[in-house]
Amino acid sequence: MKVFYVSTEYGSQQIVEYDITCPHCLKPMPHADQTIIHAHIAQESEQLELIYHCPRSVCDKTHIAIFEWEDKIGYLFSHTTPAQNIRVEFDREIQEISSEFSNIFNQAVISEQLGLNHICGMGYRKSLEFLIKDYAAFKNPSVAEIIREHKSQLGQVIQSYIQHEAIKETAKRAAWLGNDETHYTRKWIDKDINDLKALINLTVQWIKLDLMTLRYTSEMR
Ligand SMILES: [Zn+2]
Repeated sequence: MKVFYVSTEYGSQQIVEYDITCPHCLKPMPHADQTIIHAHIAQESEQLELIYHCPRSVCDKTHIAIFEWEDKIGYLFSHTTPAQNIRVEFDREIQEISSEFSNIFNQAVISEQLGLNHICGMGYRKSLEFLIKDYAAFKNPSVAEIIREHKSQLGQVIQSYIQHEAIKETAKRAAWLGNDETHYTRKWIDKDINDLKALINLTVQWIKLDLMTLRYTSEMR
């Protein structure tokens, strides 16, 4: 077991060595005097808090690492605050037809990480609506305006403007679960947010396959 020491208002404290990444840029963070800018023991919780400053000039942000005391061992790493900002990256084909889908989806991811379980499901539902409407508008350019209209309901758009069977069937089910996230009572009681995410992901993959097939068949006639 490797340890290192930091000085606090209660003297030097032993910390069990751990791997830590900056929650902003997701790069590894060295344990050094230059990166640990303050160490503090919170009286109430008795947790040790280390304020880290990311040395990378492109990041240059701070975060707090929280530690719990373990008898005969020392302080053990618990978590960082803010939580790790993990962004889900979507393939180029998806970004090109719907840049907003990725933004909304990632806002839902952040709200889920913050434990906002009533909100994140609605966010995933909204991301699905953007993805489906943008894809349907791309495939049916002559009626793109109608598809994107406020009064065009997601279910109707899937039914009327998605011709690809697998996309239609997965998107339809994602929409069903998405609607459950916005209503007072659930219709699909044995399904949850993970099923919704899985169905959105499946829809994304089918759309990507369709777009890639289109691209290669038009490039290589
Ligand atoms: Zn950083």
